[in-house]
Amino acid sequence: MAKDPVRVLVTGAAGQIGYALVPMIARGVMLGADQPVILHMLDIPPAAEALNGVKMELVDAAFPLLKGVVATTDAVEACTGVNVAVMVGGFPRKEGMERKDVMSKNVSIYKSQASALEKHAAPNCKVLVVANPANTNALILKEFAPSIPEKNITCLTRLDHNRALGQISERLSVQVSDVKNVIIWGNHSSSQYPDVNHATVATPAGDKPVRELVADDAWLNSEFISTVQQRGAAIIKARKLSSALSAASSACDHIRDWVLGTPEGTFVSMGVYSDGSYNVPAGLIYSFPVTCKNGEWSIVQGLPIDEFSRKKLDLTAEELSEEKALAYSCLT
Ligand code: NDP
Repeated sequence: MAKDPVRVLVTGAAGQIGYALVPMIARGVMLGADQPVILHMLDIPPAAEALNGVKMELVDAAFPLLKGVVATTDAVEACTGVNVAVMVGGFPRKEGMERKDVMSKNVSIYKSQASALEKHAAPNCKVLVVANPANTNALILKEFAPSIPEKNITCLTRLDHNRALGQISERLSVQVSDVKNVIIWGNHSSSQYPDVNHATVATPAGDKPVRELVADDAWLNSEFISTVQQRGAAIIKARKLSSALSAASSACDHIRDWVLGTPEGTFVSMGVYSDGSYNVPAGLIYSFPVTCKNGEWSIVQGLPIDEFSRKKLDLTAEELSEEKALAYSCLT
């Protein structure tokens, strides 16, 4: 029997990540090749015409799984009945703008979208925030949508996670699909900590630790970390535009694993509401290693954290606490 369609909201859908993301969703990359979808696309009035162009292209692509498209500049219409919300729309940092000005714009966007989602989304809607500052935007969304369970509000660090897998695969000349269990801790910013201490590579002789195979701690503790942290800037330099296809693809990975589950023995990175695990202050949206089952994520517990890692976990937590304070100061 055919499944009922799932309604997926993409905000900022006329932007470049949105343009890469909506065809992936319509092809079943996010929710599975047998899962019909109805796309809800939201953007701001200046982007309405471009949004309509995206809608026309979706119609022209004749995706068999796509059972309907809502393209609107009205947040209530966009949020009504959605089961999954991917929040890509946000105010970009423009030259000469202070950090507080960008934060203030985004805080007000996420505050108002939180109310629209809270009032109009389907019960148990799963929310993924992509727009920067992603962790803090997600926190604001959580604060202003108190009836949405905090477990349903997450932010994207899967792109950083996938970048870490990619770097290890290139360094060892192994398939990326054979590398697993890297971790991104903390903020989706350059303070994040890409950690390979628990990562392994599948070899004919079984899984081997990445540290043992790379056999170059100096590289793993410096260049590898900074390459992953700075990858977004490297892409902007090369493409003269920020990453879009990889951001869209990793947003699909995030939701797919959350809804359909992570493979046995594999964990992924998600920005989730901290419960104090690993002595990360509770009440931040912080990226942790998680496994997913039956539509719920759980933080992987009990991983040993060495002194080097501890400092990095704390540093990125401090940045998030500062961002949180700044966001709250914008609200008052
Ligand atoms: P993109 O589609 O390139 O990016 C959208 C957001 O995703 C930005 O906040 C961007 O952050 C963020 N992002 C997070 N991770 C990544 C990553 N790894 N690589 C790149 N970006 C990342 O931006 P566009 O300007 O093309 O599109 C934005 C859309 O949002 C537009 O259609 C615009 O109309 C809409 N918008 C909506 C607003 C609202 O809802 N009120 C307000 C302003 C714009 P960063 O900026 O740091 O690159």
